Parts: sequence; C-alpha cells; structure tokens
Amino acid sequence: MTDIPKTQWAQVFESHNGPLEYKQIPVPTPGPDEVLVNIKYTGVCHTDLHAWQGDWPLDVKLPLVGGHEGAGVVVALGEMAGQNGRVKLGDHAGVKWLNGSCLSCDFCEASDEPLCAKASLSGYTVDGTFQQYCVAKAAHVSIIPKDVPLDAVAPILCAGITVYKGLKESGAKPGQCVAIVGAGGGLGSLALQYAKAMGLQTLAIDAGDDKRKMCEELGARAFVDFSKSSNLVEDVKKASPDGLGPHAVILLAVSEKPFQQAADYVRARGSVVCIGLPAHASLKADVFSTVTKMINIKGSYVGNRRDGAEAIDFFARGLINAPYKVAGLSELPKVFELMKAGKIAGRYVLDTSK
Ligand code: NAD
Ligand code: ZN
Repeated sequence: MTDIPKTQWAQVFESHNGPLEYKQIPVPTPGPDEVLVNIKYTGVCHTDLHAWQGDWPLDVKLPLVGGHEGAGVVVALGEMAGQNGRVKLGDHAGVKWLNGSCLSCDFCEASDEPLCAKASLSGYTVDGTFQQYCVAKAAHVSIIPKDVPLDAVAPILCAGITVYKGLKESGAKPGQCVAIVGAGGGLGSLALQYAKAMGLQTLAIDAGDDKRKMCEELGARAFVDFSKSSNLVEDVKKASPDGLGPHAVILLAVSEKPFQQAADYVRARGSVVCIGLPAHASLKADVFSTVTKMINIKGSYVGNRRDGAEAIDFFARGLINAPYKVAGLSELPKVFELMKAGKIAGRYVLDTSK
C-alpha cells in the first residue's frame, strides 16, 4: 500500500466569490464507517460554481474544499467500513455528490437516499474532491472496475448518474425523441450519450458552433441554437421527428428562460424533467395547455447507489464517450471562469497531481 502523507494539495475557499486558494492542508482521517480515497481525477460540475458563488438557498460549509466527481483509489478504511466486504483497500472508487446518508429514514429505506434529510453533500456540506485525499461513507462510494480510466470516468460520478436517472424519470421509451436543453455542457454531453445508449433519439438545444459540432458528433438528430432562434418553441417542434414535439425534455440549462419554454414544445402526454438549478429561478407553465395536453412536469435530483452502479456499468461497457479536457487541480479558477462564460463544450476534469 502507498504511504498516506500528512498533508496534501487542495483548492480551498473561505467566503463566497472569495479567493480560491491552492494550498497544502492536512489529510483527513476516515471515521468508523468511512473510507479515504486518494483522488486522482475530479470533474468540475456547474454545481461547484454555484457552491463557490453561494447562489442556492442551502448553506455551504465554510471554509470549503469543493468538488463531487472524484475518481481514485481506496487507501484507508475506517474500523467498520470494510465489514461487509463491499469496499477493499486498493479498490478504485468514486466519490459522488451524495457523500453519505442516514440509511434508515423513510427515503433511504426506499432507496431514495438523495432525499434523506441528513444527507451529507461532497464539496458542499462536507469537504469534497478538489483535494488529493477525500473522505466518504463506505456505503456510498461507487466501485469502479479497475480497467476503466479514472480521468474519463470522473464526470460519470455526478453528471453521468444525474442524466441517466433523469432519462429514466422521463419515462421516454426506446425510439422516442428527447430534447436535451443545455446539451453542450457537462451534463448535456453525457445526456446525449446515455440517451443514445438507451435507444432514444435526441434533439440538442444550446448555443454556438463548437457545441453544435460536439452535439452532432454525439448523435443528436438536430441542434437548435437558442442564441439564434427567433421562435425556439416552433424550431424545437419542427426538429422533432414528426413535428409534434419531443416526448420528453431534460432541462439542464443554467438559466431560467428554458424552464418557461419547455411545456410549450413538449408533446402531449410528454414529460418535462427539471435537473439544472439556475439561481433564483421559478418554473412557469400555462395551466390550460398543461391540463389539456396532460403534461407531466417533475424534478430529478442525482441518483441512488444503484443508479450510480448502472451509470458506471454503461460507461464500462464502452457505450458512453463524451469529450472532456484535462487541467491541473491548480487551474480550477481558470475552469470556473470558462464555465461562467458558457465556453466549455463538454466537461473539464482536473488532475490532482498538478
Ligand atoms: P455546464 O455549465 O457544463 O452546462 C450548462 C449548459 O447550459 C451550457 O452549455 C450553457 O450554454 C447551456 N445553457 C445556458 N442557457 C441556456 C438556454 N437558454 N438554453 C439552452 N442551453 C442553455 O453545467 P453542468 O455542469 O452541465 O450543470 C448544469 C446544471 O445542472 C447546473 O445548474 C448544475 O448545478 C445542475 N446539476 C443538477 C443536478 C441534479 O441532481 N439535479 C446534478 C448536477 C448538476
Ligand atoms: Zn455535479
């Protein structure tokens, strides 16, 4: 086994929008039901930007080490963490947004653990994966097969699980058409791939030629550029296979407007699944057409442990190939700037050794 150092590199902030400090901090010690994961790569999710900016109505731990898409190697086990044999020293493991939950409330018992009132959130209510050594509950880390590359799999730990779950929640059936709103971003690029693997047709909505090109390469049947369209609702309907609109809409955008448009172009009997979390935003839909078109509008929030294992299995079987760029952990501020400006097509993954 590798020796565990006393200190490590991490990205830490003490106040919202305050300096992101790349510095040495102590390596944490896992509690009895926790494991210590030597994070090799971590994705950067827009949620990490929300946490830094403090724009959600949910308190953030401060000072904070952000990050919740970590992939690495298990280097220590708390006294009870290895008891059921699920996690072993040397296993490759993923640290997710859901760092832990109580495992005994109504929601946990029904495997809806993201809804647990006592859930701890990586890189939000507990320190996350923007560090070289991260602690997580043994019951919640994802096991990653050893032949799967840790850089490419990192974004699956949040983005992949979330869109896979959202697509299941949409109820769309193989052959049907799903609109992916925010298709050019991290969640969007993976949604295009999971949808394809699940036998669905996709219609991508985002802006700019880079994102158009990426979405087309990822299998979208059409791309609607929201920055150029003068009638988005009509353009989306027209781009659906029979002109009646997509069977489902997966909303991943980081602005409010698309949340007001989706019910207008979704097909009758269709569903609108809200996943993106733009700050201070509300949902709005016309009551008359929601009723007479029998539209289902719902939220979807990450996934449970099984969704995580399934999402990783799709990836391990080679079905999910979305582009990502690698930067050093020290370069997080630059990645946040690009993300704020909407300039990232796909995902950024950070190498914690740089
Ligand atoms: P991202 O920045 O990589 O991608 C967001 C995309 O939305 C960008 O490509 C942007 O151009 C696009 N966009 C902005 N306005 C749009 C519009 N009007 N129409 C269409 N597209 C538009 O972000 P991400 O990491 O993919 O995260 C997306 C959102 O999902 C964030 O708010 C994040 O916090 C949230 N999220 C939710 C969950 C959950 O469980 N519900 C999980 C992870 C992330
Ligand atoms: Zn995330």
